[in-house]
Amino acid sequence: MKILIDPGHGRNTPGKCSPDGRFREYQYTREIAAAVVARLQALGHDAEVLVPEFEDIPLSERVRRINAWCRRLGKDHVVLVSVHVDAAGSDGQRHTAAGWSCYTSPGQTAGDRLADCLYRAAEKHLQGHKIRTDYSDGDADKEACFALWRGY
Ligand SMILES: [Zn+2]
Repeated sequence: MKILIDPGHGRNTPGKCSPDGRFREYQYTREIAAAVVARLQALGHDAEVLVPEFEDIPLSERVRRINAWCRRLGKDHVVLVSVHVDAAGSDGQRHTAAGWSCYTSPGQTAGDRLADCLYRAAEKHLQGHKIRTDYSDGDADKEACFALWRGY
């Protein structure tokens, strides 16, 4: 099983920072991705950061990298987790939005099982923080059809 951890945006992606510019999403998600990969590798898993570059890598290239692994190993043997840090508002002001959420592709997929595990871990380790859920389909994860999952 190949585990790909995508750190989301690059340093030159417009926006993606706090109103004062001190918090940069790409830096934090790269720290998270590196820590997750190191921990997974220490546990014996075949994990790697999908985008080690600091520059913004176009979605088409990120999808190409994912598809290459899926062709090589079969898509049932590849897990993709894309790490993001969400924010609220685009008015340059700080807002008080907070929380943690996990999105999977629409419908019942293998990703739902991983999401269930992540939600259990979040409930255990993020006590006191808002855990955002959507139980409309019977499980906690939110669903969306993001570009990385749609492919090109
Ligand atoms: Zn993001």
